[in-house]
Amino acid sequence: MERIYNFSPGPATLPTCVLEQARDELLNWRATGMSVMEVSHRGKEFVELAERATATFRQLLDIPDNYRVLFLQGGATMQFAALPLNLAGPDDAADYVTTGNWGVKAFGEAQRYLRANEAASGRDGNFRRIPDPGTWRLSDDACYLHLVSNETVVGVEFHEVPDVSEAPIAADMSSTLLSRPVDVNRYGVIYAGAQKNIGPPGVTVVIVRDDLLGRARPETPTVVNYRVMSDTDSMSNTPPTFSWYVSGLVFEWIREQGGLAAMAERNRRKATRLYAAIDGSDFYDNPVDPACRSWMNVPFTLADTNLDAVFLKESAGAGLANLKGHRLVGGMRASIYNALPEAGVDALIAFMSDFEARHG
Ligand SMILES: *Cc1c(COP(=O)(O)O)cnc(C)c1O
Repeated sequence: MERIYNFSPGPATLPTCVLEQARDELLNWRATGMSVMEVSHRGKEFVELAERATATFRQLLDIPDNYRVLFLQGGATMQFAALPLNLAGPDDAADYVTTGNWGVKAFGEAQRYLRANEAASGRDGNFRRIPDPGTWRLSDDACYLHLVSNETVVGVEFHEVPDVSEAPIAADMSSTLLSRPVDVNRYGVIYAGAQKNIGPPGVTVVIVRDDLLGRARPETPTVVNYRVMSDTDSMSNTPPTFSWYVSGLVFEWIREQGGLAAMAERNRRKATRLYAAIDGSDFYDNPVDPACRSWMNVPFTLADTNLDAVFLKESAGAGLANLKGHRLVGGMRASIYNALPEAGVDALIAFMSDFEARHG
């Protein structure tokens, strides 16, 4: 069977050549006579793999020397709790800007651990725009300012890093990391679950600035304690070896594509074409403020919601899978991460136009 175009929001499509390499060396990885899943994480081969993946990742993002890179477990959701535990005490304050449901979740989790202040929210406008940073009600004493760089469900992305707070920015980049260059210096902490744009589920990348290490509360679980995990090269306990391995293959693939500048060019083209098709039609609609439309997740609705089921059935039949929108917003959503080829976007646009001609 042919591979189809998979528009899933996550776990998401991976580059075919990465899957082929994983398949080819599945039973006998690096002449060990074993799968990479079966070797010790403390053995020479796996330690080399981990070091190389980390180095390539650092190179792709041009991560300064005063930042550590951790490969943890528990997903981005674990980081919603790990962040306050690592950076602040129970009486400390942190600011949260909620530009979609993931920001709301992160804020909700933080309220269990410290004085979380919702400095601004897109809620009143149905999360269709990012509140002007000039209006954010920031605390004087915040330990950090939390943002979700790309809201995967509502399709809202920060295209610029707001420069409004003295406090370090902590950003959930689960659905945008590696889609474009990032000025890591502007952040205190960046974290991302892998399964959107980095690799398979199971591994979570955390980039943390040196001076923020060593503040963890005593009760912080060891496996998410940034200092401990940094000192042990993310191997305080058994890491998610297979996910780390596949992510490493994805890093190499991105490098071969020309790195993050090349990915950004391609992603911008893909998103621009798809939004232009939506805006150019009276049948499809994307309600998000054009200034903050996501390059990665493009939600859209049909003029007649009665046609949603037909659209999903016919698109799946045409080899365009997983276009159903999140239950919070309804309609459709096309997730067009790095590994979704430009030809996939073109095929979707052609399908949409044909569907409109037949049903519009
Ligand atoms: C998917 C997603 C999450 C949740 O990730 P898990 O790995 O399932 O915990 C959090 N934030 C954003 C922005 C996401 O896209």
